[in-house]
Amino acid sequence: MTSRHQAPVEHHDRWPMPRGWPTRRVTVMVAWLLPWLLTVGLAVALHVLHSPEPVDEGSMPFVMAHDIVAEEVPRAVGPIDHLPGAQQAAFRFTSHFSPMPAPGPEDWLRIHPERGQTVQDYVDSHPNEPEPGDHIYILPLGRLPSERGPTTDELAEHARRFFGLPVVVLPVRPLVQLDVPSRVQGDHRQLNATAVLDVLQAEVPRDAYCLIAVTLEDLYPSDDFNYVFGLARLKSRVGVFSFARYHPAFFGEVPADDPGFTVDRRLMVRRALKVMSHEIGHMFGVEHCVHLHCVMNGANHLSEVDRAPMHLCPVCLRKLHLTLGFDPEARYRGLAEHYGALGLDEASDWAFQRAGYLRRERGG
Ligand SMILES: [Zn+2]
Ligand SMILES: [Zn+2]
Repeated sequence: MTSRHQAPVEHHDRWPMPRGWPTRRVTVMVAWLLPWLLTVGLAVALHVLHSPEPVDEGSMPFVMAHDIVAEEVPRAVGPIDHLPGAQQAAFRFTSHFSPMPAPGPEDWLRIHPERGQTVQDYVDSHPNEPEPGDHIYILPLGRLPSERGPTTDELAEHARRFFGLPVVVLPVRPLVQLDVPSRVQGDHRQLNATAVLDVLQAEVPRDAYCLIAVTLEDLYPSDDFNYVFGLARLKSRVGVFSFARYHPAFFGEVPADDPGFTVDRRLMVRRALKVMSHEIGHMFGVEHCVHLHCVMNGANHLSEVDRAPMHLCPVCLRKLHLTLGFDPEARYRGLAEHYGALGLDEASDWAFQRAGYLRRERGG
């Protein structure tokens, strides 16, 4: 049975960036706007900007101590005894994974005390399941120059290795051919992301699990909001994401065309790949993770994005595994090679360690 058309929600997510990045750590806050908003069969949940709110200390989220995590993670993962040994090992809490850091006053969990989603919760949500032959489609809206982040080929390779589905990169669509409203916010042009999704929705290929547009244009979802980093409709399997705010030139920290200025491209790539994993993860029905430090953790500002790892924790990995059925060891090895090629040494080393651990667990 395909559950493609039975997805219960559209889960939009955005990782907002402080305007003063990197010198002003946080100047804006983000909130969920009705994560389970259902309207006329077209549900959109989005993170939106609003002014900082006072924190109610009485509602501070519970941050699990390490020994509690060791009990809680297997509970969240659920039964795995029926799996082959190496697969069981993939979903165990080991020293490769870290408990979530205690949230600071402006961090996601302090502002949004989420309860998390166990694997059983995930199954009960009936996430979209890919059909045989389905692809992840990536549509670049405007050029993605390599000095501003990953190329479309690098994005595609990452998505392929992370999710195990074939990926198709569509030809660049020049922004002038995109008939959507725009506006000027400060000194930046912004595209109306809701209108972009309306355009995309009519263009989803038959063999698409999802269609993701990627742009370096800043986005806004509606006139009420300052900006939106991304917007997705899971029922309609379309999303659009911007990497505009990942480069310090966006905030005027450096001139965009200064030939003498060098930004560590790896930082841009790392951020972009994280947000891509996170957002496509949502499109596979995976909600924010509260179990361990994980790429599916919510993030309220750029330093929280930077602090998050690039990998999935065992709970989130198990969710994707149930839907996609990949070989965890081969997946880690493929990601490690890709991260190594991109110069993301820490992520590469971590993934190689995991692959080696799983090889030993299967007796290889
Ligand atoms: Zn999210
Ligand atoms: Zn997780």
